[in-house]
Amino acid sequence: MQLNTRIIHSVPVDPLTGAVSVPIYQTSTYVQESPGQNKGFDYSRTNNPTRQVLEGIIAELEGGALGCAFSSGLAAVDAVLKLLDKDSEVVAVDDIYGGTFRAFTHIYQKFGVRVNYVDTTNLEEVAAAIGPKTRLVWLETPTNPTLKVSDIARVAELAHKVGALLVVDNTFASPVLQRPLELGADIVLHSATKYLGGHSDLIAGLVVTADRALGEQIKFIQNATGAVLGPWDAWLTIRGIETLDLRVRQHSANALEVARFLEASPLVDKVFYPGLPSHKNHELARRQQNGRFGGVVAFSLKHDSLEEAIALVTSTKLFKLAESLGGIKSLVCHPATMTHKSIPVENRRRAGVSDSLVRLSVGLEDAADLLADLAQALEALAKRHQPAEEALAEY
Ligand SMILES: *Cc1c(COP(=O)(O)O)cnc(C)c1O
Repeated sequence: MQLNTRIIHSVPVDPLTGAVSVPIYQTSTYVQESPGQNKGFDYSRTNNPTRQVLEGIIAELEGGALGCAFSSGLAAVDAVLKLLDKDSEVVAVDDIYGGTFRAFTHIYQKFGVRVNYVDTTNLEEVAAAIGPKTRLVWLETPTNPTLKVSDIARVAELAHKVGALLVVDNTFASPVLQRPLELGADIVLHSATKYLGGHSDLIAGLVVTADRALGEQIKFIQNATGAVLGPWDAWLTIRGIETLDLRVRQHSANALEVARFLEASPLVDKVFYPGLPSHKNHELARRQQNGRFGGVVAFSLKHDSLEEAIALVTSTKLFKLAESLGGIKSLVCHPATMTHKSIPVENRRRAGVSDSLVRLSVGLEDAADLLADLAQALEALAKRHQPAEEALAEY
């Protein structure tokens, strides 16, 4: 069966009533026949029927043994980090999501967890960083916002040589483009806030493990520490997943048009999109991501200044200025002053986030309208330079 058919039919019909939509079990507790004797549910932190359906769907979609739904992407990240013992070592992708970096630095460092950040597109660097005390190797691919792509299968081999687990944050690709567990990863996680939810209307996180015992450890951690997804948001996430394949196809098609358009603009310096042959990981992305490249495009300007970038991001009309990504509406953001503003300026620039870098989350509007919006914003930018040039011409 094709993936899209599997996704749509992974949402079960309610066995009790025949309802085609999953019921929202808005309950905290469950009546028991006698102590410990129940219908499989006793308290909604431990388990809830609506959340359980979502957990089954994501496990199936990622090809894993067990799924677990959390109250946010960062709660999912946090549950995976709680697998670590005191004084463990982690090797992580250098342009890791800011919130994950913050958790490592401000929460886990005090428990002796040490993180070695490396350019994971370079396998030699990964091999050199992994040592006998490495417990986790942490990938994001593609990364935010410069969309670097790492080779999941090769990094999995390197991690497994020392008995470390490979974790892949699959938020940017989503499981319709990339299934890390099939490539050897042990744990895959999502901010379901982004493409899985898909409508910018919820905060949620998901974890799927390849192995059942590891999944049970995650479930234990979740029950012991409590960051569960509520039944209403679990239902909204299921509703989002039903159209995931369709949406990601259109996000990817629109983003490719936008990336090509930007690459042709004389005001644009570099375009970062794995779907462009000019992207340094283009061939790997094509193999690893089902020949599609997702909805995020980043670009920098020839005039590399904060001021120029801010003028641009405040003059688009359809692309709304906001953090986050993966929703049906197109968004624009300026990483240097928004998502990446807490990163020291030298580190930020070294990670490829230049002053003028602009990130687009390309939505589901008609591509022609999106190109027209970018064209008018770039024209307004060009006019800023014109008075001087016109004065020069008169002279
Ligand atoms: C947004 C995001 C997260 C965090 O998810 P929240 O749902 O905002 O807590 C983690 N990883 C990546 C790659 C993200 O984009």
